[in-house]
Amino acid sequence: MRKPPARAVNAVMRALARAIEDLDRPAVEKIAEESREDPFEVLIATMLSAQTRDPVTAAAAARLFEVARTPRTIAKLTEKEIVRLIYPVSFYRNKAAQVRETCRLLIERFSGRVPGTMADLLTLPGVGRKTANLVLILSFKSARNICVDTHVHRISNRLGWVHTPTPEKTEAALYESTPPRWWPYLNLYLVSWGQNVCRPIYPRCRACVIRGHCPRIGVERIAKR
Ligand code: SF4
Repeated sequence: MRKPPARAVNAVMRALARAIEDLDRPAVEKIAEESREDPFEVLIATMLSAQTRDPVTAAAAARLFEVARTPRTIAKLTEKEIVRLIYPVSFYRNKAAQVRETCRLLIERFSGRVPGTMADLLTLPGVGRKTANLVLILSFKSARNICVDTHVHRISNRLGWVHTPTPEKTEAALYESTPPRWWPYLNLYLVSWGQNVCRPIYPRCRACVIRGHCPRIGVERIAKR
């Protein structure tokens, strides 16, 4: 795979850093900020956020944390009570079961604390690399992880930084193709851009501050404005 020049990646990331200042931050980032990067709240909010719009995630997390915000208090809730609190996030039944089981395992195996390693995080139900990377970046201040969701996957491919079919492969490729200084920021910058400008369909290329660096790979139609 041909690596993008570091100066091109640097230019894109610097432009995005400025451009996202005025945009709403993604829901999990806001929850992290408000909870002082509490690993448990970041973990649960990220689990709730999968395939769910940000306002729905934010409201569901707020309702749940209003009632219970520790592994012990959430584990005491019934699955039905958790469903009622987190509805209508996508897959709310599965997520309620996974959240409850995760809380139980945190108590049983990790003394009620969220573990700070990828290997341990991946043992929790419903926790994949995306969630684990975000917890490690936001709460454990890891500078060595990249969190790839659907926005990061799509935009990295459109920019030609990677040529990959899945988010997992995109994560692995981004470690090779981007300078390490940007790894912890890739998620925040590209998710913010993906929610507002580089949307899945009809991206707003005419209004995009990084259009000069973007070959728009795979983009067929763009928004009029
Ligand atoms: S130019 Fe278009 S495809 Fe490229 S990053 Fe901007 S919005 Fe996305």
